[in-house]
Amino acid sequence: MQFYSTNRKTSPVSLREAVVRGLAADRGLFMPEVIRRFPPAFYQNMKEMTLREISFVVAEAFFGEDVEAGKLKEIVDETLNFDIPLVKVADNRYSLELFHGPTLAFKDVGARFMARLLAYFNKQEGERQVNVLVATSGDTGSAVANGFLDVPGVKVFVLYPQGKVSEIQEKQFTTLGRNITALEVSGTFDDCQALVKNAFMDKELNEKLYLTSANSINVARFLPQSFYYFYAYAQLCGLVGKPEEVVFSVPSGNFGNITAGLMAKRMGLPVKRFIAANNRNDVFLQYLRTGVYTPRPSVATIANAMDVGDPSNFARILDLYGGSHDAICAEVSGVSYTDEQIRRTMSETFRNERYLLDPHGACGYQALVDGLQPGETGICLETAHPAKFLETVESAVGETISVPEKLQVFMQGEKQSILMPVGFNAFKHFLLNQQ
Ligand SMILES: *Cc1c(COP(=O)(O)O)cnc(C)c1O
Repeated sequence: MQFYSTNRKTSPVSLREAVVRGLAADRGLFMPEVIRRFPPAFYQNMKEMTLREISFVVAEAFFGEDVEAGKLKEIVDETLNFDIPLVKVADNRYSLELFHGPTLAFKDVGARFMARLLAYFNKQEGERQVNVLVATSGDTGSAVANGFLDVPGVKVFVLYPQGKVSEIQEKQFTTLGRNITALEVSGTFDDCQALVKNAFMDKELNEKLYLTSANSINVARFLPQSFYYFYAYAQLCGLVGKPEEVVFSVPSGNFGNITAGLMAKRMGLPVKRFIAANNRNDVFLQYLRTGVYTPRPSVATIANAMDVGDPSNFARILDLYGGSHDAICAEVSGVSYTDEQIRRTMSETFRNERYLLDPHGACGYQALVDGLQPGETGICLETAHPAKFLETVESAVGETISVPEKLQVFMQGEKQSILMPVGFNAFKHFLLNQQ
């Protein structure tokens, strides 16, 4: 299948090229040329299917023409080696727990899938060493590093701002070793991102090395996120029979996760509508209200993985709805919560329902509490394990919470990182010496 750019100023490219390049030559985002609609029978039988079986059917719709079936099945099975359970929190309100993967956040799904797809294409090309560069303010680095851990032919360089990520986040990408190298940059997240951007623009580096990025705009990370919307629906069918008027509420930052849900709806998944739940960084909500999209600098909140002032996947949403503000508003609404409201939701949901939410999931859950209409059934995507935000969550609920074994293992590991100044020359020199 061909993938076109949302800017439509370049010709469509193959899946392989879209994955390797990440961003289109005209700076647009890649979209699949065909979004296949599944027959009703698929939805009727879905509740008998496993997460892996459902995901394989969806994966075939996007990748089946370019990846041989047996291999695609292997990629899906290896990616989803953990469950994504749907848990009932209160009447008509469910939580899709996306935090049972290696780094306890939903980004594991896309990162693990992308790692395997990239390795597959690289092998076809004779297995040059691929160097994945990723700048992180915390969560992306851990998902990508763990997703690519031990993937043959791939080296990952995680650039992060010294002293500006939490200890638990830092441990998740600095303790792995093997094909993962953590670069501790004496600057800000923006400096890290600038280093990565400069590397991609440097002619000499790109002639000598095979460089690629693993950020969330990559189709190989973006599209697999649609799998679990189908699986959530299947589980709901198992719990309540034939659900009517399903509403997904998605804690949103760069809007990749919710856009994957909108793709699922386009494939025929019977969803009535979506809610994009934001913290105070709510440019999308302002767009819904006014029809004008005005990016602005992000502000820091306790749901920090959603501190985004110019969501990159907005271009995909516009593209999906032909640029129509009315069409977008018909399927997606928005909400925004302050830190104080997020804390109150965590506290009240724990007290009243005995359900622990993380600050991101709390935005999604509160949106269901505030916005669900009679007759609707709501599913909130719980995007991270609450223990990843230990102090914030414990202070909100007023109790100590237990830390999963997986996180404890990271905490016991020894940090290994290489200090890197913000100047580009040192970074370039370092990369050239890696081969
Ligand atoms: C990345 C992230 C989000 C935002 O997801 P987008 O796809 O960028 O909208 C929400 N919650 C958590 C915990 C995240 O790590």
